[in-house]
Amino acid sequence: MPPETTPMMRQYLHMKELHPDCILFFRLGDFYEMFNEDAKLVSQELELTLTSRDRGKPEAERTPMCGVPYHSADAYIARLIARGYKVAICEQMEDPATAKGLVDRDIIRIITPGTVIASSMLEEGRNNFICALYRDGSGTGLCFCDISTGEMSVTSFSGPEAEEHLYNELGRFAPREAMLSEEAWQDKALVGFLTQKLECRCENGGAARFDLTDAQAAAQRQFGDGLDGLPQGDEAALRAVGGLLGYLYETQKTDLSHISTLTYFTTGQFMELDLTARRNLELTETLRSKEKKGSLLWVLDKTRTAMGHRLIRAWMERPLLSPAAISRRLGAVGELVSDAIGREELILCLKEIPDLERLIGRIVYGTAGGRDLAALALGLGKLPRLREGLDSTASALLGTLREELDDLYELRELIGRAIVDEPPFSVREGGFIRAGYNAEVDRLRDILTNGKDLVAGIEAREKEKTGIKSLKVGYNKVFGYYIEVSKSYYDQVPEDYIRKQTLTNCERYITQELKDLEHEILSAQDRITALEFELFCQLRERAAEQVGAIQRSAAAVAQIDVLCSFAAVAAESGYCRPDVDLSDRIEITDGRHPVVEKMLKNALFVPNDTQMDNTENTVAILTGPNMAGKSTYMRQVALIVLMAQMGSFVPARAARIGVVDRVFTRIGASDDLSAGQSTFMVEMTEVAELLKNATSKSLLILDEIGRGTSTYDGMSIARAVLEYCADKKKLGAKTLFATHYHEITALEGVIPGVKNYNIAAKKKGDDILFLRKIIRGGADQSYGIEVAKLAGVPEPVLRRARKILAELEAGGAALPAAPAAPAEEQVSLLDMGDRRVVQRLRETDVNVMTPIEAMNLLFELKQML
Ligand code: ADP
Repeated sequence: MPPETTPMMRQYLHMKELHPDCILFFRLGDFYEMFNEDAKLVSQELELTLTSRDRGKPEAERTPMCGVPYHSADAYIARLIARGYKVAICEQMEDPATAKGLVDRDIIRIITPGTVIASSMLEEGRNNFICALYRDGSGTGLCFCDISTGEMSVTSFSGPEAEEHLYNELGRFAPREAMLSEEAWQDKALVGFLTQKLECRCENGGAARFDLTDAQAAAQRQFGDGLDGLPQGDEAALRAVGGLLGYLYETQKTDLSHISTLTYFTTGQFMELDLTARRNLELTETLRSKEKKGSLLWVLDKTRTAMGHRLIRAWMERPLLSPAAISRRLGAVGELVSDAIGREELILCLKEIPDLERLIGRIVYGTAGGRDLAALALGLGKLPRLREGLDSTASALLGTLREELDDLYELRELIGRAIVDEPPFSVREGGFIRAGYNAEVDRLRDILTNGKDLVAGIEAREKEKTGIKSLKVGYNKVFGYYIEVSKSYYDQVPEDYIRKQTLTNCERYITQELKDLEHEILSAQDRITALEFELFCQLRERAAEQVGAIQRSAAAVAQIDVLCSFAAVAAESGYCRPDVDLSDRIEITDGRHPVVEKMLKNALFVPNDTQMDNTENTVAILTGPNMAGKSTYMRQVALIVLMAQMGSFVPARAARIGVVDRVFTRIGASDDLSAGQSTFMVEMTEVAELLKNATSKSLLILDEIGRGTSTYDGMSIARAVLEYCADKKKLGAKTLFATHYHEITALEGVIPGVKNYNIAAKKKGDDILFLRKIIRGGADQSYGIEVAKLAGVPEPVLRRARKILAELEAGGAALPAAPAAPAEEQVSLLDMGDRRVVQRLRETDVNVMTPIEAMNLLFELKQML
């Protein structure tokens, strides 16, 4: 880097030195400029033109630079953040027009993936979490925060299950950014999980950041008495809280008083779901296309507010364990389904409530504008109607939520009086304070309007006095107000006119009178703008004082929204209220798969029953042809259990659900294949995790265990796993076990608690008819060939397969001999291409080919494969 000498560049380099890990956006007039390596990086990432300062110098001594206009910087910053960079904003701290010498500049904020708050950078229906993770020999502390809504929660673990809990919680919150203590940072597997599976930006926080004394002080300052919820002596949790707060103070450099409560939670409060189960069950996105459409969330989310969107996702990721808490939700949904209170009316009301959580976040932050305040008042104004809608509720939960709704009459009335209906975007240019709110604003505005009248008056009078018909008063930025006289009247211009500018056809003059008036008018404008801004800041502070009440109301609105959404879906799709208790039973009558049912447009979904317990019906072995509906059925059971524990009605005629502590899945090929692990290795790793962590209260979904290896190996593993699951002395957990090893069905009657089921299918000639009905007993056939036909495998192959099958069935397990047909005929479709390649090569004389012809031939050969 060439030595830089200008004071401004020294200022820049100093700022950059303080924040080497950030891209520095350096404010220069109307632009944010970047220099040196930052400029090269950003110009590449954002495809901006790279220029340089000091163009006169030789190339090597120039400073690379690139810039973005400040008013559109958000969009550029958003793209950099999305790519995992951190951006430090360096602002001009004084007006360059009045500054003496070098303009004072300072870093006002550091924007990181986990701390964005501009609404353009946030997804409305999703929380944006940042986390701090502290780990030492005695335990792990994990703290999450969404600074856009102000929620902060912390948990801690120790003992043998700490690892598993940690991964599950990380998967559940899916933070965008994580700050790790030294020991956690050294854990390659953990960092890999965060960066690769969760696509989370990780940073080593170092030891000082998690210092216990500092943590205590920071937490005390932020939460005061609210810290009491933290268990005494839980150092790991406290250090995580302190580490996160420290990082937030450092990057945000502003008031964080909207982060006012710290929730301590334990893993025992919620059903645990690991990342595999969450993904396999397609809770919030589908496995293949990662879209919301086709997921459980897609079916259940009919929420109307941004707060509701975020909460329903959270409830889905955190099903409850306490039947009492679940019943409270179910009671509320029940009342809303029955229309004992007008659900439609509530929904209409919810529709109009803006994102109160993020609004109050921006207000406390000081980034809110006039529109935000107006939206807040409007939103608060909807709460009385929402309360009214719940007046007659008998549900304990809805009753409590109703009480939480505080419409803050005085505040919203004040904002209503102060701010115009449609305020301009900026609060720096005035025009948003309503007439009648402030006497001084009114007086100055009066001067402004009358001032313009006065200007018009002067024009009329001067015209009259001088007899110059074309005389007019104009205004421009250079001369202010002036009198313009066209050429033909020059001789009539009075003496007291002072000439200022000569144009082709006219001259422009000023008079003392005009200048005095101008001063009055122009300063009035400045004074109004300043005063309006001051009034706005006062209002914003008044609103910020109510942060607690607004957050409580917002939380209540979110819950009412989710409960209404559950009720709307239940009413529309014919769901029933499940009985949830602590028994070990899962009894479902006419259960359906909520998503598949909705996806089947014209066909009818065939409902099925489920009976599971920890004695007679612990393991259900499911056989039946491919495509019969085995995985649909198994997922359906898991989803119904999950939905019930979320507090939602379920797609069934009746359901009794004994609370399940965890759901485990082992289904299909996993996305880890790209990470270089074999299918079988992935399968076995998942089985290992599941058998290690499941309890007798868990629900296990196992699809085709052992498929990835040789038949005998696979079958042995499948059987051993099944025995382990069924055995009360070992695991004894409710298990749905789909397999294509028909031999496994022999275990019914041999191992207690194992029952055979199959999904009925009928043969019709060479075709197969799926009945989709679960019946007792093992499947008699696999109908593989019929399914192959359905998939469009060519007839000669099917014929041959039927023949081999018949021979196998007749002659036992030995592989039948190859048919006597000539070898040529046996060539499979796949081999065809290879043969043509060989043929073509034989015909070619390489010696007479030009390089280009050789290339073309290569291309042609490749096409044949
Ligand atoms: P398997 O796991 O046995 O191979 P799937 O569960 O994948 O079969 O089901 C295959 C398809 O059959 C599903 O995509 C769905 O469209 C349909 N299906 C499954 N179960 C039912 C049902 N109960 N009613 C109607 N269609 C069903």
